[in-house]
Amino acid sequence: MRSHYCGELNEAHIGQEVTLCGWVHRRRDHGGVIFIDLRDRDGLTQVVVDPDTEEAFATADKSRSEYVLQIKGLVRPRPEGTTNANMPTGMIEVLGKEVTVLNASETPPFPLDEHVKVGEDVRLKYRYVDLRRPEMLEKLRFRSRMTHTIRNYLDEQGFLDIETPILTRATPEGARDYLVPSRTHAGSFFALPQSPQLFKQLLMVSGMDRYYQIAKCFRDEDLRADRQPEFTQIDIEASFVTDKEIMGLAEGMTKKLFKEVLDVDLGDFPHMPYAEAMSRFGSDKPDLRIPLEMVDMGDLMAQVDFKVFSGPATDPKGRVAALRVPGGAALSRKQIDEYTKFVGIYGAKGLAWIKVNDRSAGLDGLQSPIVKFMENVIDDVLDRVDAQDGDIIFFGADSTKVVNEALGALRCKLGEDLNLYTCEWAPLWVVDFPMFEENSDGSLTALHHPFTSPACSAEELEANPEAALSVAYDIVLNGTELGGGSIRIHDQKMQQAVFRTLNISEEEQQEKFGFLLDALKFGAPPHGGLAFGLDRLVMLMTDSQSIREVIAFPKTQSAGCVMTAAPGEVSAEQLKELNIRLRQKIAPTESED
Ligand code: ASP
Repeated sequence: MRSHYCGELNEAHIGQEVTLCGWVHRRRDHGGVIFIDLRDRDGLTQVVVDPDTEEAFATADKSRSEYVLQIKGLVRPRPEGTTNANMPTGMIEVLGKEVTVLNASETPPFPLDEHVKVGEDVRLKYRYVDLRRPEMLEKLRFRSRMTHTIRNYLDEQGFLDIETPILTRATPEGARDYLVPSRTHAGSFFALPQSPQLFKQLLMVSGMDRYYQIAKCFRDEDLRADRQPEFTQIDIEASFVTDKEIMGLAEGMTKKLFKEVLDVDLGDFPHMPYAEAMSRFGSDKPDLRIPLEMVDMGDLMAQVDFKVFSGPATDPKGRVAALRVPGGAALSRKQIDEYTKFVGIYGAKGLAWIKVNDRSAGLDGLQSPIVKFMENVIDDVLDRVDAQDGDIIFFGADSTKVVNEALGALRCKLGEDLNLYTCEWAPLWVVDFPMFEENSDGSLTALHHPFTSPACSAEELEANPEAALSVAYDIVLNGTELGGGSIRIHDQKMQQAVFRTLNISEEEQQEKFGFLLDALKFGAPPHGGLAFGLDRLVMLMTDSQSIREVIAFPKTQSAGCVMTAAPGEVSAEQLKELNIRLRQKIAPTESED
């Protein structure tokens, strides 16, 4: 139906007869001549229809925004003074000779030719119109280029693209499962995969050696900004590899992606132990673009006569840390109050600070509501953070968890507010994660997932699980976790030791993971892998504000689809077939966003 895309025409096509198909982006009537900006996936071309071509003119005249047209015409240079150097097709126009309406359009729910603010709910309801906007189209095109590059890379490295089931059993990744009732097994349910974890491990047992999949995963998590109930992972697993080899491979893929798609050289990724990341940055996904670091003050604050500081300083589960912000003495009282409110979100009860106006003036050169409580240690405090005139030093004193979360988040907020970034991209590997984390009731949960290999023997693990480290690694970019993985347990006894530590009874082990425990008995090779969150990676690389901007048909924050009105009710007949009787309908507690 067409000879060229609208966006591909340029001066080289002058003199050619072309046929274009697309949507009316804008239509203008200029003293009897009609101008139509015709838009398709590749861009816009200006079409001019003059009254000499009567039929074409009449059709152009009645065309409105978003009508679908086929236009035959001649490419010619734009008259002098009307060229547009900012537009790829800005040197030419098409003199329209035949205009056919392929389909009319009602007035679109929002204009596409202007930058108007449109509510996200309207955009999502008419997503097919929203996706016509060039910036949205560009994001999906970018995403497609990314997956193409990833597939090429993994293919070159000998990985096989293998699909795994969507209707399956629960795979624990720490979230709630989406369940699907079975019609043929009344009263039983499939779980949608939280990840292909166990299947990819089984593929290693079967000798596939190298597997990848761009896989849909499903997690019914509580509402949190920028999560999607279904999302896409680049899922990778390989046999006979060390953790260093897997990290090298994933790093190579990331570097290639940035080079090919953005022409950015990422350089080699540093490796940082989890404990160091928590202590210096209060986070296991530190944003290394920001030069601020947390500094421990516990030993000094244990000596002050001020409970707020000495308490956490002497509590084994407490922490007192400082964050020096160069130039921060210029912050106003109001700004400091706002930061105090901000750390409150993370449970901090306050935010102590010292402004260093003139260090040479001793105590008189400091401005602070708390310095009077720590005069005995103030010199050491200032020396330890290397305080300079013009700095502000913030303090956190609370449980280690609260201090890390509050000062860690403050560090990122200050980085953004004061534009402290030292580079555009800062990737790293975080390694040496603890195997388990403690729940509030003292029980343990696997920090990664229970198939992760501990870095110690089964005996050591069971003797002191809190101290055990795992062979797990996370890839972090600009403060965002892009992905993570581990070397897996390939020994049945070790797997059972981990299950025992997690308080999973023999019976439950058999019931839930019997197939895995069986497989580990039949020659399971050493193996490991990782998974990247594709949506988040696209979001970072396209500098998008939300993950929903890089997904064609995303869900809202309350895990619904406003366009199709999913999830929806089903007929009594369907429920009966599934052997399901609903309890009284419960009113939704969350308002739709
Ligand atoms: N299955 C893990 C996840 O989804 C990734 C991995 O360990 O490979 O986080």
